[in-house]
Amino acid sequence: MTFGDTDRMPVLFLGHGSPMNIIAENDFTRSLQSLAADLPRPDAIMVVSAHWLTDGTYVGCMERPRTIHDFYGFPDQLYGITYDSPGAPEHARLASDLLDPAVGGCDESWGLDHASWSVLRHMYPEADIPVFEMSLDYSFNDWHPRPLEYHYGLAKGLAELRRKGVLIVGSGNMVHNLGLIDFETDAVAFDWAVEADETIKAKLIERDHGPLLDYDSLGRAVALAVPTPDHYLPMIYAIALQEEDEPLEFTYEGFQNGSVSMRCFRIG
Ligand code: ZN
Repeated sequence: MTFGDTDRMPVLFLGHGSPMNIIAENDFTRSLQSLAADLPRPDAIMVVSAHWLTDGTYVGCMERPRTIHDFYGFPDQLYGITYDSPGAPEHARLASDLLDPAVGGCDESWGLDHASWSVLRHMYPEADIPVFEMSLDYSFNDWHPRPLEYHYGLAKGLAELRRKGVLIVGSGNMVHNLGLIDFETDAVAFDWAVEADETIKAKLIERDHGPLLDYDSLGRAVALAVPTPDHYLPMIYAIALQEEDEPLEFTYEGFQNGSVSMRCFRIG
């Protein structure tokens, strides 16, 4: 199948936070509902997942992606919930074709982890839009993790998907330190978490992507906010796709569990 060009679809970065958000009704989940209501209806959704870390970059090409309950120790109710959207094999193959074949390709085994369905369940409860995931390359190259510039460049190569009706969603959390978490969802945010969130927000507004790609340069608060890059990287994919003429709009800001920023934004 080939796809005709469509209007350029927006790009999103969504915080997803704790799996408890799957069943929560709070100001964050309500913001996801109103965001979806505002968006043009996508032909397919591609989620760049903080929870699918691979050696190389893969996209899910299956017809019926399974719901993956990749969390432990939560209430039974969460494990009984599935998100039964169809897959988008043709769109996924197009995404795979845009990747350098040396770095990955189509995957038939993963599915939708909670980075996807915990947010999509609030946005599109009918699960009637085809969804596929893209993994994050977490491999080491000459004993070094892939630099953020590598991911930024890879994401830029996916721009065409936006003109084929694909809503690209980075799903992670820009401030995410589980080692310092408060188990109370509504806990007051730590000072360093607020500072890091403000620092990153300012760079996003200024479109100053250089320091965001070199977050070690952004000081101690950001170092605490990003102890590992898995939840930060999906944001890098989103900003890499911001084109010259496109504004960035925050669709939600707030914290959960003291050390997790739920900040979300929309580009285009
Ligand atoms: Zn997560």
